[in-house]
Amino acid sequence: INTARALKAEGIGLYRSEFPFIIRSSFPSEEEQFRVYRAIIEKMEGREVLFRTLDVGGDKMLSYFPGVEESNPFLGLRAIRFSFRYQDIFREQLRALLRAGADTNLKIMFPMVSSVDDFFQARDIVRECVARLGEENTAHNSAPKLGAMIELPAAVEVADELAREADFLSIGGNDLVQYMLAVDRTNQHISDLYVSHHPAVLRALSRVAEAGRNHGIPVSFCGEMATDPKILPFLVGIGLRRFSVESRAIPRIRETLAQLDTVETANFAERLLRLGRITEVQEALQVT
Ligand code: PEP
Ligand code: MG
Repeated sequence: INTARALKAEGIGLYRSEFPFIIRSSFPSEEEQFRVYRAIIEKMEGREVLFRTLDVGGDKMLSYFPGVEESNPFLGLRAIRFSFRYQDIFREQLRALLRAGADTNLKIMFPMVSSVDDFFQARDIVRECVARLGEENTAHNSAPKLGAMIELPAAVEVADELAREADFLSIGGNDLVQYMLAVDRTNQHISDLYVSHHPAVLRALSRVAEAGRNHGIPVSFCGEMATDPKILPFLVGIGLRRFSVESRAIPRIRETLAQLDTVETANFAERLLRLGRITEVQEALQVT
């Protein structure tokens, strides 16, 4: 947070809530989580914070929670699926978030949503937690804004319906590329196949941005792609305006953004979206 503040971040576009879980040797209690979330909100002094619920599984395992043996963890019990399976953990986290955001514009989003049904299920659990906190007379936020992360091809296909139901969308670019291209983002042997400017990815991003526009909700983009000055103009060109990157990249992307013209980027994006081959996109982007 200190780095982000020093580099003039306008908010936290994605708070990876699994970190306080990963660094401990047992599950943090509701109280411990409450203190962590509250400290973040206070340190950001009214700036926007998007809290993402627990995203464990895949390559982020909890040492104290062996869970199930999986041969394909990235296609397994990860993110929101983990939260649905272990609902006590999910509810504890939601209670801590709702309490920490009592007097704030609280925003919570769910990772790896694969359907509108997933989103509704998560939303229902939030509502149950709100009701429970109300019965207990515990100070809490009773109307948090809820968002869906777009990280799976399935979510892209139903982005329109998700945009109708959610308060905001957040594209998880790192995972979206991984799942669209079936390339494990952590596998060094196939890193050359992890092509974030693949035409399929560009078209998917454009569709999600359009879905958000059609329903008048914000769409943010989180992930490495936004730190690439060659690709950033495309992201701006399809209408994205909210970028979440690691703090250290902020000055660089701010500099790139300052040089962009919205009409030019829109034309550029339109041109890229017509290209069907990776090599053609590479030529247009001047990358190899
Ligand atoms: C992403 O998938 O792009 C993302 C921002 O989330 P994470 O890298 O934590 O999976
Ligand atoms: Mg992700």
